[in-house]
Amino acid sequence: MLPLRRFAGACRRRGLAGIAPGAPREAADAVVVGAGVVGLAVARALAMAGREVVVVEAAPSFGTGTSSRNSEVIHAGIYYPPGSLKASLCVRGREMLYKYCAEREIPHKQLGKLIVATGVAETAKLDMLLKNAKENGVDDLQMMEGSEAMEMEPELRCLKALLSPRTGIVDSHSFMLSLLADAENLGTAISYNTTVTNGYIGDEGLELHISESKALENHSVGSPVSPQLILFPKLLINSAGLSAAPLAKRFHGLNQVFVPPAYYARGCYFTLSQTKSPFSHLIYPLPEDGGIGVHVTLDLNGVVRFGPDVEWIDGGKDVTSCFLSRFDYSVNPTRCSKFYPVIRKYFPNLKDDSLEPSYSGIRPKLSGPGQPPSDFVIQGEDIHGVPGLVNLFGIESPGLTSSLAIAEYIVSRYLR
Ligand SMILES: Cc1cc2nc3c(=O)[nH]c(=O)nc-3n(C[C@H](O)[C@H](O)[C@H](O)COP(=O)(O)OP(=O)(O)OC[C@H]3O[C@@H](n4cnc5c(N)ncnc54)[C@H](O)[C@@H]3O)c2cc1C
Repeated sequence: MLPLRRFAGACRRRGLAGIAPGAPREAADAVVVGAGVVGLAVARALAMAGREVVVVEAAPSFGTGTSSRNSEVIHAGIYYPPGSLKASLCVRGREMLYKYCAEREIPHKQLGKLIVATGVAETAKLDMLLKNAKENGVDDLQMMEGSEAMEMEPELRCLKALLSPRTGIVDSHSFMLSLLADAENLGTAISYNTTVTNGYIGDEGLELHISESKALENHSVGSPVSPQLILFPKLLINSAGLSAAPLAKRFHGLNQVFVPPAYYARGCYFTLSQTKSPFSHLIYPLPEDGGIGVHVTLDLNGVVRFGPDVEWIDGGKDVTSCFLSRFDYSVNPTRCSKFYPVIRKYFPNLKDDSLEPSYSGIRPKLSGPGQPPSDFVIQGEDIHGVPGLVNLFGIESPGLTSSLAIAEYIVSRYLR
């Protein structure tokens, strides 16, 4: 962990530029904004490729945003449109993740998952998913009659099911800790409590304005923020998750047609109060608008969670609050009334009052309610024309699964 002053010092110790009057101005090689799972994977990959990396993170620690507010599922790559980044990076990332977890002894389990059809009209959708998955290179799915699936999972009720043996779960915190250790062992510096507030693209290249996060805490909407450090990175990866698009909007000189609109969809989880899990596989209904349905996930301690649902929320007008992750993550207990009927379609023995509010996460979406789902957007110079800038937008699910592949993609495509 490096406070801002020492962070500037670390840049200088690496032989970078000296201090100019006003806010210190430093040259930097590669800067990654955001220490979520994707930012950490990218930092590690850049460091492995020989770059001097600094990670700037607004929060007091790594992975406090969406990366610790998800289902921790290693997705197989079933749902995404063939040819999309989500499809290719999920399939590649899944295999990279399993290998990485096995090598580093990161807790994970390949539990397998059942996607279930509970009504006649849904069975055709399972056939479509099977076809889609095959086109994505996921060729180990097995279509099952309901009776077969219910034999595997006696508490389940369904007409038909699709078994995905390669789906699993991972301890995302251990995974991020390991990525961080790898990156730091290769010389990566990380500065917590440090927020990137603006960027300028000019004759000198990229200019990044940085402040200690606490200096933004009482910042009033619309007033300018004075930087405490100005960095001139050769390579800048905007991996700010929910804030990636609002941050890119503050990159003066970047043609704003390349910054997609940001939408936010909260997903709440409820845990099952009974201690013994009724299921040994992950159980998923068919996908719904904005998400992949209120499903059953198990964590590595066997705790059963249901979720996430989809609730479209306002991102707020105050961009610095967004950088400081002041989103509303509370779980409204009344939302569980919508969970019971949905879950009982495939788990009829779910008892009244057995669901307890747990946690929520927010999806960084690029398409709004009723619009077709969007792909990951990874934009470098080839797209927006700014040398050295890579923006990552809409890195929602399967971003955890895909993280190592996203990092590999960036290194192979944008390293100069
Ligand atoms: C409900 C839910 C369930 C999900 N389930 C799964 C799943 O089961 N499997 C799967 O593969 N994926 C899943 N995902 C997706 C996955 O969690 C994300 O794709 C992934 O965590 C994104 O990581 P990230 O590093 O891009 O973003 P984040 O984890 O959000 O990290 C971004 C970081 O940037 C920092 N930051 C923001 N602005 C600034 C700034 N201006 N300056 C400095 N730092 C800044 C933030 O503090 C944050 O730490 C799920 C997502 C949600 C919401």
